[in-house]
Amino acid sequence: MPLISMRPMLKEAQAGRYGVAAYNMIDYNSARSIIEGAAELKAPVIVQVSVKTVRHWGYAPIASWVGMLAASVDIPVALHLDHCSDSDVIKRCIDAGWTSVMFDGSALPFEQNLARSLDIYRLTEAAGIGLEAEMGAIGGTEDDKFVAEDKALLADLADCVAFCKEMPRLAVFAPAIGTAHGFYKGEPKIAYDLLRDITARIDIPIALHGGTGLAQEQFDRCIAGGCAKVNISTMHKRCYIDGFADLKVEKPKLGEPLPFIVSQYEAMKRDVMAMVRAFGSAGKAGA
Ligand SMILES: [Zn+2]
Repeated sequence: MPLISMRPMLKEAQAGRYGVAAYNMIDYNSARSIIEGAAELKAPVIVQVSVKTVRHWGYAPIASWVGMLAASVDIPVALHLDHCSDSDVIKRCIDAGWTSVMFDGSALPFEQNLARSLDIYRLTEAAGIGLEAEMGAIGGTEDDKFVAEDKALLADLADCVAFCKEMPRLAVFAPAIGTAHGFYKGEPKIAYDLLRDITARIDIPIALHGGTGLAQEQFDRCIAGGCAKVNISTMHKRCYIDGFADLKVEKPKLGEPLPFIVSQYEAMKRDVMAMVRAFGSAGKAGA
């Protein structure tokens, strides 16, 4: 299928109370593992790209890889730009064929975050693609941005309501609810009450950032609470590296590169399929 916008995909997930896996791709092999893993389970999926990955490979190659892979399967696939505060990168992604983008103005004061998010909202609405916007400060490391645990701020409910009211067609909203990027060092403290209060007042699907390392019960509660997009990046990176390294340990003399690529692919795809099942989206493509 051609790439689709994240908005209808996540509206369906919100109504059906399941989560769509949103994986941060690394290269062609990784994008293939994400899309083919989801296709094997007939699940909608989001391939998202960090700004540093876009800068590494370039806009056209990524749009072409993901577009080609999506065209070869019959599940809905969205190509999404993850955390971005640079309008030029966002515009170039829109021009290259991305079907959704995230504007991350969470480091800005409320008024500035709203004003800049609104500028991007007008662009994405004109282009017919989806927008994700963030409020509060999600802890951990994302690209070159690091938010220390004591600086991570839960989103303010009144701010969230005022913010989303200005952007009724937001594809997905990312309030900081206590999850963090990277591997968790202790038990994550998820603000389920805040999540419940937000979804009681805002009819927009919620994005769960920092999905790596959460337990099934935590996924279940977040998805039941309105999270329709679940981001996985850290575990995908781990599978990418270990898929290669484990085979090297097992067969140190192996000089052919393709078995390494296959080993990476299989490690990444296994994790994608496990998460698709965990989020309840298996069988939901075209449901
Ligand atoms: Zn994130």
